[in-house]
Amino acid sequence: MSSAREPSFRESVDLMFNRAVRLMDLSPGLEEKIRVCNATYTVRFGVRLRGQIHTFTGYRSVHSEHMEPVKGGIRYATAVNQDEVEALAALMTYKCALVEAPFGGSKGGLCIDPREWEVHELEQITRRFAYELIKRDLINPSQNVPAPDMGTGEREMAWMADQYARMNTTDINAKACVTGKPLNAGGIAGRVEATGRGVQYALREFFRDSRDIEKAGLSGSLDGKRVIVQGLGNVGYHAAKFLQEEDGCIITGIIERDGALVSAKGLNVEDIRAWIAQHQGVKGYPDATYVENGSAVLEEECDILVPAVLEGVINLDNAANIKARLIIEAANGPVTAGADEILREKGVIIIPDMYANAGGVTVSYFEWVKNLSHIRFGRMQRREEEARNQLLVAELERLSDYMGDTWSMTEDFKKKYLRGAGELELVRSGLDDTMRTAYQSMREIWHSREDVSDLRTAAYLVSIGKVAASYQAKGL
Ligand code: GLU
Repeated sequence: MSSAREPSFRESVDLMFNRAVRLMDLSPGLEEKIRVCNATYTVRFGVRLRGQIHTFTGYRSVHSEHMEPVKGGIRYATAVNQDEVEALAALMTYKCALVEAPFGGSKGGLCIDPREWEVHELEQITRRFAYELIKRDLINPSQNVPAPDMGTGEREMAWMADQYARMNTTDINAKACVTGKPLNAGGIAGRVEATGRGVQYALREFFRDSRDIEKAGLSGSLDGKRVIVQGLGNVGYHAAKFLQEEDGCIITGIIERDGALVSAKGLNVEDIRAWIAQHQGVKGYPDATYVENGSAVLEEECDILVPAVLEGVINLDNAANIKARLIIEAANGPVTAGADEILREKGVIIIPDMYANAGGVTVSYFEWVKNLSHIRFGRMQRREEEARNQLLVAELERLSDYMGDTWSMTEDFKKKYLRGAGELELVRSGLDDTMRTAYQSMREIWHSREDVSDLRTAAYLVSIGKVAASYQAKGL
């Protein structure tokens, strides 16, 4: 958060929760039970590295256990603290409820700058952190299932899963103890791209309803929309890439750690990603204008703004200057409660984090199910499906021969139709369905209730309603 006037991240989430819960008919006791974070575990551990002992501080926070396991990523960043981890854990509860992933909410973090350490050192630190969490069932396939977040990825998840397996040698479901693993270590196709893909599916669903497009003061489809993306990390990169390559969006701004690139004719996401990998930043990239004060580009003219890095980047200091008509929160908590109010008054539409970035946990859910069922999705059906399609194509070809040359199938259609769905197609289909259904549940409230003027409140109403029902069913 940039301003002293601003509440903390966790308070900001609570304020948004309170705003929504006022419109519901929950008992004050249940309301409080849902709002609070159940427990936060803090651990400090030492690792001998480079000839001396280094002490690290880590957290795992469990917000709600109305369903178990609880779910949520583990973040590696120097700014990690208890308040942040608790806010993120709360968002996980609401996110999972909204997209009907059968989990409670949790989140973890380690205060570390991963770029300061060699890979083998990071492995030692990660294994030690995982050991501390596993010992207390804070990593466990049936109780608490971490995943990647900022600063972590497949590699860290593979180390954690292996650490769990070493400590639980007879657990047949050991692989389900974390998600976001590499494919060859029990991962699932499409998990790395999942959050960015979810952002794309969310925008597609938004643009399917002319009333929503109108509310944002936009028109037409995604094609040709000017998009500014903050952060070309895993989420921002995939979202920007898919929107550019598949939906015709023009990426007019990319904001990174060392500044921003802007170009009215559009930036090539793939090229810039490669440039960053080589030069550790965007500066010097030839085909765009470089802006040293990157965050100023958040205030540039555009149709859609995609903050995909950190919480609190749109706050009391800059909210009034935002010119985008539509903001999609690819990061968790990028808009503070105060900024949310300013933007609402300006008529800016915000697709809220708990929905917009839920693609990650959705595909994590598929991965967890895959691990528990010990079989890849599509393995049984794929060839059978292809054989049936082949049967139909052969029959149609026979008929077409019989009728002379009056019609025929195109080769492209045949190729596509004949191919049975593999794991990646099934994952994308499941993700698409999840993102559409969850959006529709928000949309219904947004359009039908006069006291609900924004999508965030609608999202809270849906998710709090689900969590409440689950507590009530337990007799609470
Ligand atoms: N860290 C991601 C999130 O914030 C993914 C969590 C998960 O897959 O469990 O949603």
